[in-house]
Amino acid sequence: MSARQTRAAATIDGDDEGLRLTASAGIAVFPRDGETPGALIRNAHTAALHARRQGAQNYLYFAADLNKRAMERMGLESRLRRAVDAGEMRLHYQPVVDLRSGRISGVEALLRWRESEDHLLAPANFVPLAEERGMIEELGDWVLRTACEQARAWREAGLPDLQIAINLSPRQLAVDDFPKRVADVLAETGLTPDRIEFEITESALIRSIEDVDAKLCRLREMGARLAVDDFGTGYASLSYLRRFAVDAIKIDASFVADIGGPGDGEKLVAAIVAIGQSLDLEVVVEGVETDEQLRFLRRHWCERVQGFHVSRPLPADELEDLVRRGPRY
Ligand code: C2E
Ligand code: CA
Ligand code: CA
Repeated sequence: MSARQTRAAATIDGDDEGLRLTASAGIAVFPRDGETPGALIRNAHTAALHARRQGAQNYLYFAADLNKRAMERMGLESRLRRAVDAGEMRLHYQPVVDLRSGRISGVEALLRWRESEDHLLAPANFVPLAEERGMIEELGDWVLRTACEQARAWREAGLPDLQIAINLSPRQLAVDDFPKRVADVLAETGLTPDRIEFEITESALIRSIEDVDAKLCRLREMGARLAVDDFGTGYASLSYLRRFAVDAIKIDASFVADIGGPGDGEKLVAAIVAIGQSLDLEVVVEGVETDEQLRFLRRHWCERVQGFHVSRPLPADELEDLVRRGPRY
């Protein structure tokens, strides 16, 4: 059953901008959905939660399978709460190639959950839930620490220094002492801050509030690098690139997929690369899957690329093997 749109919305005028209020509703019908007030309210509440999840301004009738889905989510949530302590989290590392040298210059750390023996869950299946249920701070801390420890282990094993890209959820930046946590982990692992590149999505940066601004600036002052992830998918506001002294932009894979296609994909990619270069930002292109795309990006002086054409995200030992083989791209 899908939620339906309602017209329940109102705008309250504030000093600078309007505040938009929306409502979502869940509906349970007597006696089909419950024979007591308690059961009806519980089921209406479940329907309201699902309506809200499907976007603002919806209403949804209760259906028995909503309860099933709610139970599955609760099950997933409680397993996720234990996953870090149970050692079920993994990081995979996807190589980033610097086209100027033709070498692997860095990796992006990507989270996986080994939820059972034969089940490796991708982040889309649990990161949104972790963000919603306040678990992303703990997960994010684990990612930061594990990635930095891995970088130290690679250095001790004689691997060339790699830039480590770490995805940041805006909720992690809401934690008061986040920059200090980063400084502590760096001190413990002996990494210099410039080895870390934090990736934050364009939409999170645009929505960011003052406090988050201050923390991003603090991370920059410490010497960590900052990249805008999924660039081009948010609003066309470029002012934040200057506000946060961003180092790099990562062009979203959806633009790259259009290279060689009939649409305006190539023109868009070329235009975004040109914007990045004229603002002195390093341009990373993700989602490169074909040789044709790679050739196009070389012609347009794109600096760094990442994608299945180079390699899928790999467990640490396989990444190490790949770097040791020293392929040139
Ligand atoms: P993202 O940061 O945009 O990461 C890139 C995603 O594209 C990864 O998916 C990667 O496996 C995939 N990818 C790489 N090359 C290709 C390609 O050539 N073609 C296609 N079709 N896909 C490619 P993944 O690992 O499933 O991660 C999905 C998203 O989950 C990430 O998107 C990021 O937003 C989030 N995520 C991953 N790890 C973390 C983490 O540690 N913390 C937080 N907060 N979010 C994370
Ligand atoms: Ca990313
Ligand atoms: Ca991305």
